[in-house]
Amino acid sequence: MYNGPVIVSACLLGLRTRYDGKDAFSMEAMTLLEGRAVVPVCPEQLGGLPTPRPKAAITSGSGADVLDGGADVLDENGTDVTEKFMKGAMDTLQIARLSGAREAYLKEKSPSCGSTLICRAGACVKGMGVTAALLLKEGLSVKGF
Ligand code: SF4
Repeated sequence: MYNGPVIVSACLLGLRTRYDGKDAFSMEAMTLLEGRAVVPVCPEQLGGLPTPRPKAAITSGSGADVLDGGADVLDENGTDVTEKFMKGAMDTLQIARLSGAREAYLKEKSPSCGSTLICRAGACVKGMGVTAALLLKEGLSVKGF
């Protein structure tokens, strides 16, 4: 069983990295991480976005479509933040490679980190965020919280 470093959404660890300046602390994730090397990341901050920041959503499809150039990420003001989301995903992948992490614990329902659900227009739909889709594509196992 893999017991090496884990990439973890920073907000799950209690860091206030969310768009609204809050955290998304997960006791479930913390319990599972006991004894593991934790590598905190916030893809949206890595992409160069401020905190707090306007809420953003993938326009159609999911993170894999953004990676393929078939969908964009817009914030609630209509600003195109696709490039920042792409940079955040690429930097997170680079951090995974540097740290040797082969597993990621990611915050569900985020346009970056969502692993089974993403939200837009006030509703959550099945799909992955941009970073989650890239990590999965590159062979990491991804678990959502
Ligand atoms: S991008 Fe990911 S780590 Fe950063 S605040 Fe959003 S869900 Fe948390």
